[in-house]
Amino acid sequence: MAKRTDTVSAEVRSATMRAVKSQGVKSTERKLRAAMASKRLKGWRMYANELPGKPDFVFLRERLAIFVDGCFWHGCPRCYRRPHSNQEYWDAKVIYNIERDRRNRARLRRAGWHVLRIWEHEVTQDLGRVCGKVSSKLNGFRRPELTYSDLHN
Ligand SMILES: [Zn+2]
Repeated sequence: MAKRTDTVSAEVRSATMRAVKSQGVKSTERKLRAAMASKRLKGWRMYANELPGKPDFVFLRERLAIFVDGCFWHGCPRCYRRPHSNQEYWDAKVIYNIERDRRNRARLRRAGWHVLRIWEHEVTQDLGRVCGKVSSKLNGFRRPELTYSDLHN
């Protein structure tokens, strides 16, 4: 592979990073989608573009919005490392993203949605655990059917 040289402008480089990022997040979403299907999690759809922050998955009946967030771009407290160059630029960008995410989550909650955020590293490291998180969240909203004895005891 050709070695990256300094003649690559910062603009081209950040366009490249954006492309890498969206591929990475896409594949993370794909993994989660496949896992949810295999765990028989039902009732979701992807890309709710009409909602604040465009959640990656939504469970409509339960009003659960799920974001799958890239660790670098969204400033994951565990994985984020400041790049060595252009630190001010990246700091400003990531801080902007973190604040925008926070505003979007607040807007969703005000509109009556539950919000679950999943980090890219969680999907990479333990997909089973992520699915467990989703289903326990859903189970918390789904009230068990009342039975005769519930009503009469
Ligand atoms: Zn992370």
